[in-house]
Amino acid sequence: MRRLLMAGNWKMHLDLRGARQLAAGLKRELGEVLDRDVVLFPPFVLLADVVDEVENSAIEVGAQNLHPEPQGAFTGEVAAAMLASVGCRWVIVGHSERRDLFGEKDDFLNRKLRAALAAGLKPILCVGEHLEEREAGKAQAVVEGQVRACLKGLDAEAMERVTLAYEPVWAIGTGRTATPQQANEMHAMIRGLLGGMFGGAVADATRILYGGSVKPSNAKALVAEADIDGALVGGASLKVEDFVQIVRA
Ligand code: PEP
Repeated sequence: MRRLLMAGNWKMHLDLRGARQLAAGLKRELGEVLDRDVVLFPPFVLLADVVDEVENSAIEVGAQNLHPEPQGAFTGEVAAAMLASVGCRWVIVGHSERRDLFGEKDDFLNRKLRAALAAGLKPILCVGEHLEEREAGKAQAVVEGQVRACLKGLDAEAMERVTLAYEPVWAIGTGRTATPQQANEMHAMIRGLLGGMFGGAVADATRILYGGSVKPSNAKALVAEADIDGALVGGASLKVEDFVQIVRA
C-alpha cells in the first residue's frame, strides 16, 4: 500500500508574512498527521522561513524549481545543494508552467532530475497533455514520451526517491478537473510504463499524484482510485481550510 502524498504548490503567491501565516496555520492543523505525507512548495525566497515555521512537525518543504548545474554564472537561478542547505527535502521538476512559459524541454528536465537526486532531494516530476492533444487522441502518447525522456538513464535505486505527478494542462488553474476515471486511466498507463522501464517493484512503489483543480469537493474521489497516490494542489493550497480538507480526504 503506497502512502498518500499531499503537496501544495504555492506558485508565485504570498509574501513573507502571508507564507508564515499559512505555514503556521497548516502546522496547527496538520503538523501531527502521520498516515500521509504533507509537503509545501513556497517560492524560493520564502523557503527558509517556511522550513523554520514547520519545524518539529510532520510537514516537509520543497522548492518549485531548480537549475541542473551545481553552481556557476546562471544569474537568477538556484542549485539543488542550495535548496538542501536551507532545509528543503523536495523539488518539483517540469511543472507545465515551466514547460510552457519558460520553454523547458524533457532533456533539460532529465538533467534537473539528476541534479536533484545527486543533492539528496526528492523530485516530483510533472507530466501532462494539453487539451488539443487529448482531443486528438494523443494524450497517452504525449505523457509516455515525457515519462520516457525525463526518466531516461535513471536506475531503480534512483527511482526510490522519484514521485510523478500527472497534471493534464487543461485542468490546471481552470476549475476543470479530470474525472477520477480519466485520471486513474492515465496513472495506470504510467505505472505500466514504469514497470517496463524499471521493473514491477519500482512500478508498484512509485507514487503518482494527480494535479489539476483539486478541491475539497473532489479530492476524496480522486485519491480513492487505485493508482492515484495523492494530489499536487495549486490554488486550493493557499487557504488553510481548503488544503486541510484536501489533505484529510
Ligand atoms: C498546480 O499548480 O500544479 C495545479 C494543479 O494547480 P491548480 O490546483 O490550481 O489547478
